[in-house]
Amino acid sequence: MGLFDIFRRHKKAAEAPASESTASESLTTAVSTHSSMTTAASASASGSTSRQASMASTAGSGMTSQSLSASLSTSQAASLSQSGPAASTSDSVSASVASQRQSAGSVATSSSLPAPASTAEGTDQAPASEEPAADQQEKKYDRGLEKSRTGFGARLNRFLASFRHVDEDFFDDLEDMLIESDVGYDMAMKLSDSLREEVKLENAKSKQEVSNVIIEKMVDLYEEAGRNENPDLQMAAQGPTVIMFVGVNGAGKTTTIGKMAALFKRQGKKVLLAAADTFRAGATEQLDVWAQRDGVDIVTGPENGDPAAVVFDAVQKAKREDYDVLFVDTAGRLQNKVNLMNELAKMKRILTREIPDAPHEVLLVLDATTGQNALNQAKLFKQSTDVTGIVLTKLDGTARGGIVLAIRNELHLPVKYVGLGEKVDDLQKFNASDFVYGLFKGLVEVD
Ligand code: GDP
Ligand code: MG
Repeated sequence: MGLFDIFRRHKKAAEAPASESTASESLTTAVSTHSSMTTAASASASGSTSRQASMASTAGSGMTSQSLSASLSTSQAASLSQSGPAASTSDSVSASVASQRQSAGSVATSSSLPAPASTAEGTDQAPASEEPAADQQEKKYDRGLEKSRTGFGARLNRFLASFRHVDEDFFDDLEDMLIESDVGYDMAMKLSDSLREEVKLENAKSKQEVSNVIIEKMVDLYEEAGRNENPDLQMAAQGPTVIMFVGVNGAGKTTTIGKMAALFKRQGKKVLLAAADTFRAGATEQLDVWAQRDGVDIVTGPENGDPAAVVFDAVQKAKREDYDVLFVDTAGRLQNKVNLMNELAKMKRILTREIPDAPHEVLLVLDATTGQNALNQAKLFKQSTDVTGIVLTKLDGTARGGIVLAIRNELHLPVKYVGLGEKVDDLQKFNASDFVYGLFKGLVEVD
């Protein structure tokens, strides 16, 4: 799906009243035109919105199977981030729910441990007035990427201010602008190289046209680099799914586990946490606070004890007591690189011994605000651990959302979840289309 498809679709969704009948109608059309789209039916099962449906119908009208799977995973995303069947409510009700939630959150963030938003506290069922999940997700991205968007916008505007015509200086300035936005050196070069050959750029008359061409190219390259990436979490066919979290201290591992556990709990899953960061003072306690808030179980060990022992106890318990998901929190002392990697390898061995295809996911948690540093960390972890995906946290705190492009281009690891704030419901499944829209909204002009 190209840039302008994404923008038209979001625009259309914003204009259309979110009525469920429209959604299911266009969805049916999409399904019947494309018999291969059997999974699209899951969108209707999980309570699709008109936005998703229009996405599905765009898919029906001639998208590649690659971008098709991307749009299908959005419906899965919706079903994951959503706790129950979407009840259609009046916009005003859901808007007020959203704003209440927001204010609850902003109070909560003043404590050292962020409190979850009121909705997720020990609730198995979504409140009946839940806003359709996909709309909610779009808003989250919109808010969470505000800094990046304005940052990108300011840089792009500065760059275009000096634009007279496309010459060598133009490309030099473009490269600087892109690197400043954390898209990475490699991606910046790729982009400027392919723009040199872009006829549309030569013919662009206005600053807006130039801006559109640049962003369009960026999205094209981004989608190209993500081919064959699977943004979904791999779940065990049977028995407990084990998800291990790795990353340096402060990246957001523990917080992400707290948020993700709440997400699974709300889906009715039996969740167990393993506090295998036994090194950092207070780390076990921090995870325990999340376990209590989420209403899920936890296995802990003594401070400075063997983290592998905690993992062993937890995986045993998960098997014995039929847990659906086991989240393993780990230490992240990068100053002791070799030891850390050895510890992680040991934990993995224990997991695999107890459950042959575990861990099903090894998620590397990266702090988006650390930019190039996060990328270097990722390379390090990738070398010594079989990382299966990325959780990119604190996207709300950076003005350089371009890091997502750099990750995709340089690491070839799928970003599976993004952290868009500190509250329990600020963890969102990564959705490339929502991300692109959230990042470039206001910078792209669509007819
Ligand atoms: P860990 O050392 O990797 O376990 O990191 P923590 O989970 O303790 O998180 C470190 C800090 O980052 C905490 O203050 C979190 O509240 C904060 N944090 C985590 N994720 C996000 C996010 O998506 N957005 C923001 N703004 N803060 C986050
Ligand atoms: Mg931690």
